[in-house]
Amino acid sequence: MAMTVTDDILIINGRVVTGDGSTVFDVGSVRMRGGTIIDVAAGTAERTENNNVVDAAGHTVMPGVINGHAHGCVHGPSMPSGSLPLAASDVEYFRNRHLLSGTTTLLNVCGLSLPDEIEDRGHLDHPLDVHVTTAHTPSNLGAAMAIDGKGLTGRHLNATIEETIEQGAKAFGEAGGGQTLGGGAQDYRFIPEAILAATGVRIHPKSARALKEAVLGRELDGTTASPELLEELLRSCGLDNQISAEDLTSLIVTTVMPPVSLSLHGFEELARASKRFGLAGIYHHAVPTAKTLLRLAEDYPGARMVAAHANHPSFEPEECVRHARALKSRGVAIDVSTLDCISTQWRNGPENFDALIEAGVVDTVSTDYAGGDFDSILAALQRIVHLGQLGLPAAVALATGNVSRILPEVAGDRGLLAKGKRADVAIVESHNLARVRHLFSNGVPVVFNGVRRTWTPSDLRG
Ligand SMILES: [Zn+2]
Repeated sequence: MAMTVTDDILIINGRVVTGDGSTVFDVGSVRMRGGTIIDVAAGTAERTENNNVVDAAGHTVMPGVINGHAHGCVHGPSMPSGSLPLAASDVEYFRNRHLLSGTTTLLNVCGLSLPDEIEDRGHLDHPLDVHVTTAHTPSNLGAAMAIDGKGLTGRHLNATIEETIEQGAKAFGEAGGGQTLGGGAQDYRFIPEAILAATGVRIHPKSARALKEAVLGRELDGTTASPELLEELLRSCGLDNQISAEDLTSLIVTTVMPPVSLSLHGFEELARASKRFGLAGIYHHAVPTAKTLLRLAEDYPGARMVAAHANHPSFEPEECVRHARALKSRGVAIDVSTLDCISTQWRNGPENFDALIEAGVVDTVSTDYAGGDFDSILAALQRIVHLGQLGLPAAVALATGNVSRILPEVAGDRGLLAKGKRADVAIVESHNLARVRHLFSNGVPVVFNGVRRTWTPSDLRG
């Protein structure tokens, strides 16, 4: 029989990491009741008759992960490009991946979906607590229409940020994206699709990125373009007999550039809105936008800004650290995304991620989307701890207490194992934090022995 959230649940004998960045109890206990944490204590707790007791020996007990930058988890227009919504079963798959990797709260930053598109009425409620942002300003909508916009209906095009905040949007963004700013989604989707249509040849996203940089330069302004490199790449991609350098150049320019200036203007619209409405804004951060972001941080000191995926693969390691330091000194929060750079490593490696963590400038860790290849946040925390880049409490805070502090509208009531906080609690393996054994969302057990299902501590005795 399913337990009700009014029963006490007591977790004992686990290593307890509270999420505040410094506190860890080698052995401790966490007690919850009715969706709220009512006690956190060091040492072995009393096993009283009426408690539902979970023995977490050998495991680490921590707050449920808060992911401040993800895509693909709502049923409305996807990505800052306002592309068609994902299939409901894809949304469920992505939500399950997040949940099963310890995430209880997620901010979907596609930006042009509306709050009533979080739930699809045809599907059962999912235990992952999903929130949305808004980017409904003229230039951001215009940038979406310039690259795709096929998911945008009259409702989305006419929505304003005022209305969307009233309806429940919790932050601004994502300002720009790989689709609108010549970034990752251009490399894995738009450029390969355009080249496939023109030549019949499918190229790897890494080749798309190289071709793009040879044509447009790293900042998309032509300053570092290289016609010699383009010739060489055409040969190595097997395109030299399919398309001329001239035609490929114009194909890439017309694929990448139409939304870029609109999107950069959209950054400014959201900085202005952030200052006016007091909500945080999440900004795509990559080589082509770094200067704009730095300028806005200076021009809008009252705007709360988050530099998203500060480890973006367009940066060199030294460069991403330099930009992050400059932004941080101007009050901008630094987020790094797992992308596919932790365990998948199909397109991206961990160099920039490591450089930023080792420089000590990172505030939060999110997943972003990476074309669906995103690695889990706990896998990233495991990497950080395993490599000794940070201690365990500081690593855990990057995905719990810090996110709660930077995005209080989303997660101010959670992200810490502390009395009065929402009972989002993960029980993970101590030798590999990425292996999630049990998970509680709002005091309800939602993952049991690694599988999504409701359960009661009496199941542990079976
Ligand atoms: Zn982005």
